[in-house]
Parts: sequence; C-alpha cells; structure tokens
Amino acid sequence: MSYTPNSSRYSKMEYRRCGNSGLKLSAISLGLWHNFGHVDQLENCSNILKLAFDNGITHFDLANNYGPPPGSAEENFGRLLKRNFSGYRDEMIISTKAGYTMWEGPYGDWGSKKYLVSSLDQSLKRMNLSYVDIFYHHRPDPETPIEETMSALDLIVRQGKALYVGISNYKPAEAAQAIQILKELGTPCLIHQPKYSMYERWIEDGLLDLLGNEGVGCIPFSPLAQGMLTDKYLKGIPSGSRAAKAHGFLKAEQVTPEKINQLQQLNALAAERGQKLAQMALSWILRDRRITSVLVGASRPEQLADSLKCLDNITFSQAELDKIDRIL
Ligand code: NDP
Repeated sequence: MSYTPNSSRYSKMEYRRCGNSGLKLSAISLGLWHNFGHVDQLENCSNILKLAFDNGITHFDLANNYGPPPGSAEENFGRLLKRNFSGYRDEMIISTKAGYTMWEGPYGDWGSKKYLVSSLDQSLKRMNLSYVDIFYHHRPDPETPIEETMSALDLIVRQGKALYVGISNYKPAEAAQAIQILKELGTPCLIHQPKYSMYERWIEDGLLDLLGNEGVGCIPFSPLAQGMLTDKYLKGIPSGSRAAKAHGFLKAEQVTPEKINQLQQLNALAAERGQKLAQMALSWILRDRRITSVLVGASRPEQLADSLKCLDNITFSQAELDKIDRIL
C-alpha cells in the first residue's frame, strides 16, 4: 500500500534555526549509520523512516561509508525515497559526508578535493538525487591543507551538488580555521557534527562557545552513547543489541559494571523526571539552545517513537544537572 504521511506531522516537532543560517532543522534528526545497510531488513528501514517523517523529523543523516557494506545505507535510502517519499523531497533535509575510508587507493579517503568531489558524485548516484542539502567533511585530515578541503566544499556548493556544507569531528582550533576559510570563500559553514553525550562532554570545553559565537549550528551524534544511555544494558547485553552484533561499533567490553552502576542511578533520576533514560539523555542535550538538533539512531520504529518523547520535557533544574554530574 502506498504511504501517505501524517497530515499533522509538523505540529508535533520543534524546529530550531541552524546557527545564523536561513535553515531550520527538526530538534530530532535521524541517522542511518547502523540499521540501514544491506545486512538489515529493508521493511524495518522503511518503517523507521516513515515513523520519523510522520512525527516531523525532516533531517536524515547519511555518509558514503554507512552500511555495512559501505554505501549500502545510501542505496537503501535512495530506494525508499523513491518508494515512499518521491513527492516529499522538498520537505526533507538529506545529508551525506566523506572523510573516512571508502575505496582503495590514494583517492578514496581523508580530505583531498579529488576524494570529496568524486565521493559526493557516487553518493548522489546511490541515492538517485541531483543534490544533497548538507555535505560534510567527515573528519579532519592531518596531511591535506585545510584550504584545499574547504575549497572542495565551496566548489561542491557552487556546482549545485550541495546546498550547505558542514564539518564533523573537528576540534575547536581546527573548526575555527575551517569556519574562517569557508567564510572567506563565501560559503559559510552551516553546521558542526561532533560526538556528544553525557559520557562525552568535550564540546563543552570551547567548541560550543566557538559555534555559538560564529553562528554555526551544532548537531551531536551518538547522543545515547550508541544505546548505552538507555535502559537496554541495565541487566546485561540483550541479543540483537548493537553491543551483541559482530558489525556493531559498540563493543561488549564497553558495557562495564561501573557503567551499569552509573546507568542505574541515571535511570532512577530519569524516572523521577517522568522520563525513560533514553529520553532524559536526549533532553539533556537539547537543554542548550546552541544545539540545533540531536542526531539519534534507532534499530526499530518503537525506539524512535520512544526517543521522540524527550521533547515533552527538555528543562532541567540545577539540582538535576548537579546530580547527573555527580553520578558521572
Ligand atoms: P545513538 O547514540 O542514538 O544510538 C542509537 C542506538 O541506541 C540504536 O541503534 C539502539 O541500539 C539504541 N536506541 C535508540 N533509541 C533507543 C531507545 N529509545 N531505547 C532503547 N534503545 C535505543 O546514536 P548512533 O550511535 O546510532 O549515532 C546516531 C547517528 O549519528 C548515526 O546514525 C550517524 O548518522 C551519526 N554519526 C556520525 C558520526 C560522525 O563521525 N559524524 C559517527 C557516528 C554516528 P540497538 O541497535 O542496540 O537497538
């Protein structure tokens, strides 16, 4: 049966302006790093995407290497775009990236103009799109001059293959340089995509201030620490979870007794707030207005439905914030 999106989808979501740009993003964005490859079930992918769109999520985050195998998340997304969303392209923000290993040889990795331009061409083919909304450099390249990488991003926008550009995993000093070069080139840096969760707070040490001052958006990835900041691992490692999968990036060794103890305390605090732990972990990120959107993953539609409820309570008392700091 053909899919008709929920007509009240835009009333359910908050939309935040991305830095000083004209673009607003849904406060929750969906990432396709895990759960959308050829190893996964296409119908499940389809159901997650439909649930996202029905609830006002407009932003879908991909990268050339998402799968496994690399490239397959873009292929599946392209297939499902055609099947379910062909009349809705103008209501969607689609992002992709290049910067990690994608193909063999010297031109399939890092940050040269050669790699970025050809990788985006491949991504567009896989997704069957004529342009993406946001193209990111996925990680800083210690060897390629940053001027070359930024001029590749500028070129891609001028070619009409991306509307906006962003950077990911850049530390504050690298980000400051990239933002300045892009400004001079006339293609402002729209957004930065860093790792940020209750467990990984490095962006509080300079990066958020820089982005706030420069009018650049911020979209944290792995906000649930790949599923750790949920009630999933409170009693061990369930089968089917990311930590139990051979190709998952969360390793069973990371789920330590010390972490489980902290998670139990966080879970109790979430309950006092009337939330599940996953919801509290996402609200905690959205408490800061410099955050444009929080980028979640989901292996099932029910998880995404659960995570979306974080929007019901994104304010924290100072006592709650202090308690979280003490637990961690
Ligand atoms: P999360 O921290 O949100 O982890 C997602 C996982 O958490 C799910 O696969 C699921 O695990 C579990 N989960 C999600 N919601 C719930 C819930 N409500 N209850 C219980 N468990 C839940 O994010 P990801 O690590 O997946 O990263 C999100 C996105 O960020 C990626 O898809 C990608 O787009 C982007 N990213 C970018 C990177 C970069 O370098 N720029 C690097 C990494 C990610 P399970 O599978 O076990 O069910």
